Amino acid sequence: MSPAPSDTAGVLERKDLGRLLEVLNGAGYRVVGPRVRDGAIVYDELRTEEDLPIGWRDRQEAGTYRLERSEDGRVFDFNVGPHSWKKYLFPPHHLLWSTRQEGNRLQVAPGPTLEDKPLAFLGVRACELAALQISDRVFQGGVVDPTYSQRRSSALIIAVECSTSAPTCFCPSMRTGPEVTQGFDLSLRELLSPWGHRFLVEAATDRGRALLRQLPLRAGTEEDQGDLGAQRARVRAGIQRSLPVDEAHDLLQENLEHPRWETVGRRCLACTNCTMACPTCFCSTTEEVPSLSGETSEHFRRWDSCFNLAFSQLHTISVRSSIASRYRQWLNHKLGTWWDQFGTSGCVGCGRCITWCPVGIDLTEELAALRAKAPSTPTTAQGAKA
Ligand code: SF4
Ligand code: SF4
Repeated sequence: MSPAPSDTAGVLERKDLGRLLEVLNGAGYRVVGPRVRDGAIVYDELRTEEDLPIGWRDRQEAGTYRLERSEDGRVFDFNVGPHSWKKYLFPPHHLLWSTRQEGNRLQVAPGPTLEDKPLAFLGVRACELAALQISDRVFQGGVVDPTYSQRRSSALIIAVECSTSAPTCFCPSMRTGPEVTQGFDLSLRELLSPWGHRFLVEAATDRGRALLRQLPLRAGTEEDQGDLGAQRARVRAGIQRSLPVDEAHDLLQENLEHPRWETVGRRCLACTNCTMACPTCFCSTTEEVPSLSGETSEHFRRWDSCFNLAFSQLHTISVRSSIASRYRQWLNHKLGTWWDQFGTSGCVGCGRCITWCPVGIDLTEELAALRAKAPSTPTTAQGAKA
């Protein structure tokens, strides 16, 4: 008989993973996590273990993403995809309120109340835990966003440590991964070796410990720790990109007129993909949608992007008319002035903006280019100066 697990940790055999979904559903959570859809691994509702991307892995590089089958049956053998958890906490399109004219009076109704069931995020990576903590500062640090706050406080976080790395990852240089260390209720580490296919499970909160008690666990062994150490070393060794997180703020501020902005501005399509995929970008706009009769109107919040021309429009004039100036604004905020606003970088090194940029613009390359070349005399092109 296997030794008993502790109150906070144990080992779940692969054949028992479905039990975790049963326990979560039984506890009343709406479980969301990775699943295959439209040729990518996205985040969506999970009902059973079969909904997970079992036997799928991703291949990604700058401007490239594809899925392929793996033979070993790993469950979480991939890195981050085009979605992030922000779509649940900060919905892309959200009804804030609606109005109805009744006689001479205007009735105002708040947007829909949140679903009864709390969310359980299954499969949160280390960089994504960091992104959630950054978003907490944005949405709860000063003025509190009620939608974000309500969903965030009730959401159960089940982290899954990366067992592979993508060429687009650079979390070590951002000090956000790849190991999962904090910010979760429950964490899983998937191991596959001659010692078996299993998950090291760790609980970090009362909610996590309550779940852990309902799982059929055994105690960990030296072999489990040995496999974990080897896996972590392999994942770190696979990460090649890096970004000088501590230098970025000053480097960017000192190079506002660098000719590199013109170079990247000629490549950038201003498609906004990078900001949509980024787990921390939070720009939004509001829009009023009146009915044709004029009796009712709905007021929505929807995601916006600093790459949109209209985003910086003031009194009919966009103050960032060139794409070069919009790219410069994005990178300066993300890696530089985010520190001044929120006391942290706005980037966690997930690499999404590199993979999902259709022309393969890579922010680590852009920083390296600024570092490599001394600033020239101020450019006269209208681009970055606009
Ligand atoms: S800027 Fe790019 S690498 Fe950094 S968090 Fe956003 S999507 Fe990830
Ligand atoms: S950097 Fe790439 S993803 Fe971002 S707006 Fe430009 S072309 Fe689109």
